[in-house]
Order: sequence, then C-alpha cells, then structure tokens
Amino acid sequence: MDAIKAQQILEDCQKRHHTLALQLKDVGFVWPGSLVSRYLTCGKANCACHKDPAFRHGPYLYWSTKVGGKTVSKSVSGSDAKIVQQWIANRIELESIIEQMKEVSQDAFEAASLLLREDAEDSQSKKT
Ligand SMILES: [Zn+2]
Repeated sequence: MDAIKAQQILEDCQKRHHTLALQLKDVGFVWPGSLVSRYLTCGKANCACHKDPAFRHGPYLYWSTKVGGKTVSKSVSGSDAKIVQQWIANRIELESIIEQMKEVSQDAFEAASLLLREDAEDSQSKKT
C-alpha cells in the first residue's frame, strides 16, 4: 500500500464511519436483556394443562437479563412489553452500529498506521 492508496482507504473509512455515527443519534431509548413468552401450568391439580402442553396457560411475557452472571426474569404486562420490545430492538440496532464501527475501524487501521509512520519519517527527515 502506498500513501495515496492509504489516504483513499482512510477517507473511505471515514465516510462509512460518519454514516454510522449519524445513525447513532436516531437510536431511541435502549433496554438490556430480552423478552420471552412462556406457557405455564397452573396450580389446579385437575386442570388440562398438566396433561397436555397444548392446554398450558399463556402466553405470559417475561423480560430477562443477566445480573452478575445470573439470569433474572421479571413478568411484564402486555403494554409494558410493547415498550420493552421496542427499546430492546433499539439496543440491538445500537449494538449492530457499534459492531460495524469496529469493522470500519479495523479496515482503517492499516492505512492510518502507514500514514502516521510516513508523517513521522517526513518530520524526521526535515530535522536532519
Ligand atoms: Zn391449568
């Protein structure tokens, strides 16, 4: 890679990174964990749910996340689930943007490194 090529790669990466940075500002509230729906058996011994999984009750919605390495679950109402679902989707989008930024940065690294080395060599040669 020569300095001109490195400059092109770096500029291309800066454009891609800038596009991603613009997407970041539109990401709404973010929420950790995930939503799961569960079908449960009840406490009535003679209820059909104990014999046939198709008769289990639900779906009941739970929000679950890891706290200190342990998964904790909390039941959420339907209306709260809508909020949480959107905010979780926002977080997944945010994480995806960050992942793409890391990839772009990796692409940019070699070019940035080469250009910085050339700069250092230039200023070195000016001194002598
Ligand atoms: Zn039941």
